[in-house]
Amino acid sequence: MELIFLGGARKIGNSSIGLSLGNDILLLDYGASPSHGNPPELPIKVDPMRVIGVVITHAHVDHSGAVPWLFKTAYNPPVIATPLTLELSDLLLRDELKLSGKYLPFGFPELQRMMSSGIPIRYNSQLALRDNVVITLHNAGHIPGSASVVVEVDGKKIWYTSDINTIDCWLTTAADIVHDADIVIMEATYSYKDHPDRKTQERALVETANKVSSEGGACLIPAFSIARSQEVLITLIAHDFAGPIVLDGMSQAATNIMLSHPDFINNWYALKRASERAKWMRSKKERKKYVKMPSAIIAPAGMLLGGWSKWYLKKVFGNEKNAILFVSYQVPGTLGYKVLHERVISHDGKEVPVSAFVDYFDLSSHVGKTQLKQIASQLESPEKIFLVHGEEPHISQFAEEFREETGIDVVVPNVGEVYKL
Ligand SMILES: [Zn+2]
Repeated sequence: MELIFLGGARKIGNSSIGLSLGNDILLLDYGASPSHGNPPELPIKVDPMRVIGVVITHAHVDHSGAVPWLFKTAYNPPVIATPLTLELSDLLLRDELKLSGKYLPFGFPELQRMMSSGIPIRYNSQLALRDNVVITLHNAGHIPGSASVVVEVDGKKIWYTSDINTIDCWLTTAADIVHDADIVIMEATYSYKDHPDRKTQERALVETANKVSSEGGACLIPAFSIARSQEVLITLIAHDFAGPIVLDGMSQAATNIMLSHPDFINNWYALKRASERAKWMRSKKERKKYVKMPSAIIAPAGMLLGGWSKWYLKKVFGNEKNAILFVSYQVPGTLGYKVLHERVISHDGKEVPVSAFVDYFDLSSHVGKTQLKQIASQLESPEKIFLVHGEEPHISQFAEEFREETGIDVVVPNVGEVYKL
């Protein structure tokens, strides 16, 4: 048995790990770096005929985005995920195909075949792919439907945390920890810092939004369509945002999908009430009306790379009464990064200063540094921990610190590396 790191090692992007069992291979995620309309980075190509199954841990494209690539031939491997992840993956992958279909080695027919090969399984129920290969999904607390995976092969327990969060949020509950895993593959997105207290950040966001709206301004809150949009929507209502709350773009479809899976949503009633209170935008006329009002506007894309948030940005950036409130990390090179850190946007071919108030609130759905160590401290006797989904130099620095403190064999693999288990 061997582990092969097919992507997403020493970086955040095309996450994929292969568990090779002789000629057969079980894939844990098969992601593509989000393309934003550019050619995306794919994981190492695998012969689909060797694939005995692919687990999608959650719907984010960096974990699911290359799965349709496995459906170019007549053979269709089983796609194992929670029912909510399957539905949300379909939504996001359709959008990716619309945005960047010309760069991708697959299209809608492959996505369709992927969806019809879905095997929805619930948390804590076991699926025997073979007599000696058993898969269990556990709640990962990252986004609704997200899972960590345990693969048991001949008595050895391999736990892939995927993206994980160990605090309760509106939509998700703290992740399950698999104490008796032998081999752990752990995400390390924030191996270099801790997040501030979640509830304090939520209150600060709404206080700021209320202050802006009391002075007549509109707040644009660019947010990922899945999870962050709905978390912000519920937060605004829970902490009494006074004005109208706009929900726009793909966040609407994502909200409807989540509402149809009550058993995967921590506070489903809060989501239901919030969705009823929100103004669902259907036309440009409505958008033009609300953007002039003291409102809070939740719209993807979260990094202002497209979608309705980019449209609203042009309407709000020039007026100091308005605000642009970020609720997620902005990747360098994105428009969101420019607005947040440089306070400029390109408008009509020129760099124009942003007059609106700009701020950032940390509503991360990943564990921070201390929580990563806490997860490790709960493991009974791990043979080895592989760290993935994190960038250099942080991930290697963390591995060294981690090794010294715990004595555990901590490895930071490279893409393409193979480890015998
Ligand atoms: Zn994720």
